[in-house]
Amino acid sequence: MRNALCLGVFGLHLARLCVAQEAATAVPPASAPEHAVIVRARVLIDGTSAQPRSGQEILIRGDRIVAVYNMGTHPVPPGVQVIDLGAATVLPGLIDAHTHIFLQGEVPAAGGYDIQLLKFPASYRVARAVVAARRALEQGFTTIRDVETEGAGYGDVGIKQAVNEGYIPGPRMFVATRSISSTGGYPLEGYAPEIVVPKGAQLIDGPVEARKAAREQLDHGADWIKVYMTHRSWVDEQGALVSQPTLTVEELRAIVDEVHGWRRKVACHAYNGVGLQRALDGGCDSIEHGLELTDAQIAQMVKQGTWYVPTLAVYYYDPDPPDTPSGKRDRKRVAVHGVSFRKALAAGVKIAFGTDVGGFPWSDPIAQEFARMVEFGMTPMQAIQSATSKAADLLGERGELGVVAPGAYADLVAVPGDPLGNVGELEKVGFVMKGGVVFRTPQNSMQP
Ligand SMILES: [Zn+2]
Repeated sequence: MRNALCLGVFGLHLARLCVAQEAATAVPPASAPEHAVIVRARVLIDGTSAQPRSGQEILIRGDRIVAVYNMGTHPVPPGVQVIDLGAATVLPGLIDAHTHIFLQGEVPAAGGYDIQLLKFPASYRVARAVVAARRALEQGFTTIRDVETEGAGYGDVGIKQAVNEGYIPGPRMFVATRSISSTGGYPLEGYAPEIVVPKGAQLIDGPVEARKAAREQLDHGADWIKVYMTHRSWVDEQGALVSQPTLTVEELRAIVDEVHGWRRKVACHAYNGVGLQRALDGGCDSIEHGLELTDAQIAQMVKQGTWYVPTLAVYYYDPDPPDTPSGKRDRKRVAVHGVSFRKALAAGVKIAFGTDVGGFPWSDPIAQEFARMVEFGMTPMQAIQSATSKAADLLGERGELGVVAPGAYADLVAVPGDPLGNVGELEKVGFVMKGGVVFRTPQNSMQP
């Protein structure tokens, strides 16, 4: 169903605006590709330019941007709807390159991680993932790379299909399905050896099993393959962060070789040490988290063109008590992470915005990551580009996503203030358009 609604946008005095409001259950009608809209932006951050541009008009036909020009230089063509966003700052739809729609920031008191795999019906997990997908879009993240379902099998493939077919609201999704680790390399853990429990990842041993798992996941719809190259971590007697390595270089190489043959990419969860080195030597396309990077590893990332998706903010979420082994580990993680980020940034490592949301609740602001990136040395514009054009590069979508320019998808967001003065403004997204369809205005904001 498509209902015409009249809305004022950002409280502006301009004429009230009639937009075709896609209800959450709406299926885009066949006539949608002909729909033409002009979005007026007093300030436009286009995703690639070093400076914002003032007074721009963005002409959209169907799901694509066809032109961007100075306000008032072209007459409004007949029948074209105008959405004036007033004093707001317009940006490309944001991209979170590290999400988990099948996690909800589970706290131990509520059963933690294990209860999801042991007691929750699959339908319940899917229902919560549907809400998570909506939450991403509400917060202005029009694209996500969702890096594994945590025991929910190929559930992400179905959610992506439902979004693409218009049954549920959600971002564009690049999905990694089950992920791969080795025996002893992923929960569930700690149960009697006589009891067979499910695992949150597909566990392999040896290059043959590794390649087979990658083939299975690709066959069933994985856009990316996610590999865990480290698992447990702790602080040793010298006070250093130590991480247990999982796959061997040979196992990872078999996966990377297979995945690259399909023209897809491999994301490697790697904290530090031996496992992170194996991730680089095995040819990973992106290092996820990368808590502690040596100078040599940073140089290798630059040389190989490896992406860094640091996910800084999640490690500040709910640390264990400081006098416990896990509490010491949590504090050590934070202490080394910012240092690594600064060094990688200075060396020119390619950095894409990722948050690990799902590791913290979807009701929390995803955009809190921007402030951490700025705290550790990025300019606000660099941080914004990491979540727009740079993340689009990571996804192989340069020019299609993460940019406001002719030919790109009409994915736009707006915030009321100046995010270059305060990146915290990005937590206040009040307007969201995806593929030329308005999903959110300040008046129709949905709450979780
Ligand atoms: Zn993650």
